[in-house]
Amino acid sequence: LQVPDNPVIPFIEGDGIGRDITGPSQKVVDAAVVKAYGKSRKITWKEVLAGDKAFRKTGNYLPDETINAFKEYLVGIKGPLQTPVGEGIRSLNVALRQSLDLFVCLRPVRWFKGVPSPIRYPSLVDMHIFRENTEDIYAGIEYMAGELDAQKLCDFLVKEMGVDKIRFPESSSFGIKPVSKEGSERLIRAAIKYAIQRGLPSVTLVHKGNIMKFTEGAFKNWGYDLAESDFAEKTFTWRQFEKIKTEKGRLDAESALENAQKEGKVIIKDVITDAFLQESLLKPYDHSVIATMNLNGDYISDQLAAMVGGIGISPGANINFMNGYAIFEATHGTAPDIAGSGKANPSSLILSAVMMLEYMGWYEAAEHVYDAMEHVFAKRKVTSDLYAQMEGARLLTTSAFADEIIKNIH
Ligand code: NAD
Repeated sequence: LQVPDNPVIPFIEGDGIGRDITGPSQKVVDAAVVKAYGKSRKITWKEVLAGDKAFRKTGNYLPDETINAFKEYLVGIKGPLQTPVGEGIRSLNVALRQSLDLFVCLRPVRWFKGVPSPIRYPSLVDMHIFRENTEDIYAGIEYMAGELDAQKLCDFLVKEMGVDKIRFPESSSFGIKPVSKEGSERLIRAAIKYAIQRGLPSVTLVHKGNIMKFTEGAFKNWGYDLAESDFAEKTFTWRQFEKIKTEKGRLDAESALENAQKEGKVIIKDVITDAFLQESLLKPYDHSVIATMNLNGDYISDQLAAMVGGIGISPGANINFMNGYAIFEATHGTAPDIAGSGKANPSSLILSAVMMLEYMGWYEAAEHVYDAMEHVFAKRKVTSDLYAQMEGARLLTTSAFADEIIKNIH
């Protein structure tokens, strides 16, 4: 990505703890940029409105100017947003992702030494979640039980589709789960390219295709088709393994897999979601890049985050890999239970900003933040989410933790 030396970066402060973590995160980034490039590069932060603050100032929760700013400047960052209840809005976050067609939600899962983890070998965790961001049950096509549209749908299913009426009593609500070939392919293509570019060993397609054959099952099949057609030189799929095994026997299949691994090919495999959730805890080193649909990706993100310290330390990005639009944001929500108390861990947003620096090609600045953070965790200086789980830790407030990182950058 080509960015100027003095880019304008639009940011949404966010609701709840967004107000606590956004300022300190920007200070950390600014310190790392100065350390890496002196005065030759500088970010100009431009606040754009969304959520409560936008509503108070403009009467609109997500003004057009905000969406336009993200389009104009290409790269932006945001704090978490609370979805207003009873305002006819499903989710501001989903609306923002859909209006910019940010079809990939990328969440790297990485452990920092010293951070408490429930698994035995957290240092072996190096996972990268590619969650489809625009389709699936999140498309928002839902009909409430008792309302006319739900009844119409019920009648349609019974009369036109021949579905057994007993399975859909009057009290049925409906949710529709669209999963398209194009939508699945562009997500999986981005995941495979990412694995190839970074020399990562595998892409796991996580799906529930054993039950939802034409949506999640199709996602898996389209993934294998794509890998075998468009990335034939650079990948080897489990489907190819199975074919060789059936035609020539297990030994030939195993030697084909071994050769592919030796040649540095990316292994494309698939796992059913429930099995994946177990495997990722027991053998996290078996999975590298994970490509999955929207709802699976939501569940998986929080579980994998818990393996490396929780959502207070888990970054993310929403990216359209075709036109470059990207908005970086933490995995967590607005945490109303701790907002304003100085308890929020800003690491999630700081690490999202580090992903942003990497996306911009500002690797030296990104490295400075990582190194400084590693030092702070090694000294057992943490915010309250990690403090309770760490013996001999020192408790810092949100801003004191960010200041400690800045001190280590210097
Ligand atoms: P949440 O992520 O806000 O909080 C879950 C738990 O994690 C809480 O106990 C909270 O205190 C803790 N937590 C979260 N972030 C933390 C941090 N940085 N440091 C320390 N502890 C942290 O989830 P929720 O309570 O289900 O959702 C609250 C609101 O956030 C809802 O309105 C939801 O719609 C919204 N939300 C927004 C986003 C987003 O903006 N991308 C994502 C998820 C939820």
